[in-house]
This record gives sequence, structure tokens and C-alpha cells, in this order.
Amino acid sequence: MEWRIEVYKSEKRYLSYKACSAMLTQIKATSGPEWLVEADKFALQNSLRDLDAAFVNYFEGRAGYPGFKSKRGPKQSYQTNFTNGNIRIDRVRHQIKLPKVGWVEYAADGREIPDGIINVTVSRTPSGKYFASILCEVAMKSLSAGGKEVGMDMGLKKFAILSTGEVIENPGYYITARIKLAKLQRALSKKKKGSKNREKARLKVARQHEKVVNQRRDFQHKHSKKLVVENQVISMEELRIKNMVKNRKLAKAISDAAWGEFQRLMEYKARWYGRTLVKVGPFYPSSKLCEKCGTKNAMLTLSDRQWQCPKCGTVHDRDLNAAKNILAEGKRILAG
Ligand SMILES: [Zn+2]
Repeated sequence: MEWRIEVYKSEKRYLSYKACSAMLTQIKATSGPEWLVEADKFALQNSLRDLDAAFVNYFEGRAGYPGFKSKRGPKQSYQTNFTNGNIRIDRVRHQIKLPKVGWVEYAADGREIPDGIINVTVSRTPSGKYFASILCEVAMKSLSAGGKEVGMDMGLKKFAILSTGEVIENPGYYITARIKLAKLQRALSKKKKGSKNREKARLKVARQHEKVVNQRRDFQHKHSKKLVVENQVISMEELRIKNMVKNRKLAKAISDAAWGEFQRLMEYKARWYGRTLVKVGPFYPSSKLCEKCGTKNAMLTLSDRQWQCPKCGTVHDRDLNAAKNILAEGKRILAG
């Protein structure tokens, strides 16, 4: 057994809609939003790090407290460190005790919050929900070695195509939610600045945006975990960060961003579970090589979804062929 410090918050220890408002209510009921002003010293220390200039201004009397004041603005959060049992979890009642705040309810999402809390970050989203991210030191157990290997070709229309022939589709609900988000954003832009209707529209956009983010996160955690559990070796293409930044096409930009995040999840989950993640260089021509005989088809264009190898005659599905090549190249990298 190995001890590692892992960022637990990336595992979505978030509070659901209902319980978030319950938490908000309770925080308000106990001491009001000013509880932050008198927040414990650790919270202030950490906040200072994050909001340095704003706090200096506050303490020198030039500006108001930079806490949860603005309804908009950047992400609002503060962090408190664990010391002498100042943070406690009641797993039966689903309550967490935070310094200066007291016991507040949290929404259980089926996963246990482990022992070994290092710190808790409380944040407020633009739509006004509160979340607690809990950083824990967790004992991770490597999974028993399995023999399976997989290569992944990430796609634009499809999320990924695996060398096994499996396809991970982009979930339809996610696309629907994005379309709705775009509509709400257009509606917001037409509302008069400073009006009540504009504030309503802003809230709608914020809620929809959070929904999209949550859906993407659920989808990515589910699939990255499945891949890591099922395979000993996973080979994928390294992302070209430069291209990602340059890309102006929305659909491509979105899928690249989703990919980057997915790769990050794959990396740490592979570490957690003792799996090997290998990344194939961005200039490896995974689509153009025939996975059977290695011939390079320089004539292949982006619109060719199927092609026949000019040398051995094999007919390829473009993406499946690429996924198989990515696996082969990953294995070659590992061997060398
Ligand atoms: Zn061939």
C-alpha cells in the first residue's frame, strides 16, 4: 500500500443543487455572510494568498471586504486548513463542521469522504450555490495487474474511438445543454444593463453553465475510470497545446478543451491505480499509416472516413485504424 497526497477536489466532492441551498440557508441562519469577515485565521491566511491585493486594500481601509460581496466577479472561495479536529465530518447525518461556520449539511453523492482531511475550500458559484472541496490524503491501492491494452483516438463528432472497436459517443444531453446555454446567453445580451430582467437572465446563464460543467465532469470521470480499471496500458495522443490555443473553430475548441481535461483525469487515475498511460507524440501520423502493413497513405484527406491501403488492400475505418496505430506506437515507446 502506498500513501499519496492527492487532490481530492478533482474527484468532484461537490454538493448537489438541493443541499447546496440548504447549506446556504444554514450558513445564513447561523451567522450571516459576515461569518467570513471573522473567519478563522487559517481561512484568512489562505484567502490572503489568493486575494492578496484586495485584502491589503481592505485592511488599510481603502476598500470593503473582498469576500462574497459581489454577486458576479471571479470565483469566490476561501480555504481552511485542518488542525486539531477543527473540521469534522458526520457521515451518517451528511454534515460537515467548518471553523466559525459550524455544522452544515452536504449532499452525499454515494461516495464516502475519506479520513485524512488536509483542507477544505468553500466556494460560491456565480449562480449562488456553495460547494465544499475537500482535500484528503488517501491510501490508494493499485489494482491487480490486468493484461488488457487499449489505444484511443479522440474525435470531434465522437468523443473517442478505441482500438477494440468500441466507440465513446459524445453524450447527446451535453450537446443539448450547450445549445440551450448559447440561447440563454443571446437572451442575456439583449437585456438592459442593470435591469431586474438582466439579473434573472444572468442567473439562468450561470445555472445552465454550471449544469454543462457538471455533466461534462460526470461523463469524463465515468469514462476515464472505466478505461483505467479495464486496461493495464492505455495509449493516447498527446495534445498539441499550441494548436488548441490557436484554434478558432468553436466545436474544435470545445472538444480540445474536453480532451485536455480528460487526459488530466486519465493521468492521475492511472497513477492511482497502478496503470500505465503512454502518450504518443503529436506528429505521429496515426491516421495515415496502415495498421496492417505500415504503409503511409500520404493521399489521405480529412474527409476520407474509409480508405483502402494501396499496398496490402486492407479497407480501413479511419478512426479505428488510427486507434490501433496509437496503441502500437504506445507499445513501441514503452518497449524502447
Ligand atoms: Zn497495408
